[in-house]
Amino acid sequence: MKNFLIVVIGGLAALLLVMVARTMLMGGGSVTAAAPADFTAYDGEAIAARLGTAIRIPTVSKSLEATPDAQAFAGIAKFLSEAYPAAHAAMEREIVGEYSLIYKWPGTNIGADTGANTSPQKPIGFIAHLDVVPVETGTEDEWTRPPFSGAVHDGSVWGRGALDNKGQLIALMEAAERLASEGFAPARDIYFLFGHDEELGGDKGAGAIAAHLKARSVSLAWTIDEGSGLAQGIVPGIEKPVALISTAEKGSVTLRFTARGQGGHSSTPAPDTAVSILARAVLAVTDNPYPLKLDDNVIAFLHALAGEMPFSRRLIMTNLWLTGPLVKGQLKSDALTAASLHTTTAPTIIKGGEKSNILPQQATAIVNYRIHPRDNVEAVRDRAVKLINDDRVTVEIAGGREPSPQSSASGEGYRAIAATTTAIFGDIVLAPALTLQGTDSRHYADIADDNYRFTPFIYTPDDLQRIHGTDERVKIENLAGAAAWYEALMRRTAGAAS
Ligand SMILES: [Zn+2]
Repeated sequence: MKNFLIVVIGGLAALLLVMVARTMLMGGGSVTAAAPADFTAYDGEAIAARLGTAIRIPTVSKSLEATPDAQAFAGIAKFLSEAYPAAHAAMEREIVGEYSLIYKWPGTNIGADTGANTSPQKPIGFIAHLDVVPVETGTEDEWTRPPFSGAVHDGSVWGRGALDNKGQLIALMEAAERLASEGFAPARDIYFLFGHDEELGGDKGAGAIAAHLKARSVSLAWTIDEGSGLAQGIVPGIEKPVALISTAEKGSVTLRFTARGQGGHSSTPAPDTAVSILARAVLAVTDNPYPLKLDDNVIAFLHALAGEMPFSRRLIMTNLWLTGPLVKGQLKSDALTAASLHTTTAPTIIKGGEKSNILPQQATAIVNYRIHPRDNVEAVRDRAVKLINDDRVTVEIAGGREPSPQSSASGEGYRAIAATTTAIFGDIVLAPALTLQGTDSRHYADIADDNYRFTPFIYTPDDLQRIHGTDERVKIENLAGAAAWYEALMRRTAGAAS
């Protein structure tokens, strides 16, 4: 018995030693205390005024059935050409799908090695969208400043689109204007890809742009779009902003469950009615959620955050081989983090029956799934059918889109985005992430090796609520920082050979 105890205690001590060693190796806090860059080269007030003008142009995407506001989309194209003359002179512009814009900044295509074997680097693409969501009817009065005022007030620019996505559009154009004014000639082609219907799915805008580029055999190294950013006060336990660089986005599928039962009078029911069959079908999927997985990206994410955590938490996060189930349990308790770890299941509509004394012959439920990149539309349907395991219930796909492919978290684009972020925002935590909503990026999956989603704005929890919501606004310092960031990224990835 004594020997046994010694072995157990010895084993525990060794385990503890391994855990502590791993934790120490993972490091804590900042190693190099890089300071944030100076954004003062950019005149924040002037950028704010230009964004205000862009917000006042009501490029609203109302619905798939509605005709786009031709005057507004022509207006924003004209505004961009007038506000950014040097960029316009340096780039070639095309209009695709009637309202979407492609800008091509032709590269000199001179690599670092001018030997015969050097092939030019593939182009890169900067994605943004020109349209905005409508202001929900009846909520106009809740806005502190009218939603299309573009007012500059309290250090922010106010209005629909300030964050999603005109702020990003303007910051990008500011960077291009500054580079073009200096005579910057990119070493590789740079594309700006501005869709006009992202808020409606992007088929006619980004979809048409991608088809247009594909027809010309354009193959991009990588693209960068909205869909993530610098999160402040959003990642629990970390005060500083965390740069979440998204490498994929979830898909979506809506399933319609239809249960059939015997009709008739409620006084003589069969053991089951369409309603009870349907209820059981819905419970079959909600009681069996997709398992949460700590995949390589989630592990990279947790390891990146660990460095900022106190030792005890770092100990847990750097020893996932042992603490995985514990960490999973914690992540599960938060809807946002849980959603990143699996395909989500959400019954949203249920209907059946008309009268209290009539047995309905049919009842239907709508279940919306957001698909993790490791799953797909067909597999979600098949899994539901299997779980329901009742041939009185039919399961149909009522619309869906596949998740995006997973982009590399170590490729050229990712490394450039990470390095640029450190150069501009100082020594902050960087981690790969997953975008839970749809973006225009998915339309480019086919013509780009990698697609990243990252806007260099610092977002707080309040900002997230204001996207598509009331009092949407962006801080002026975010605009200047983002412009500096885009400039630095273009210099880094398309600067002259050195
Ligand atoms: Zn958007």
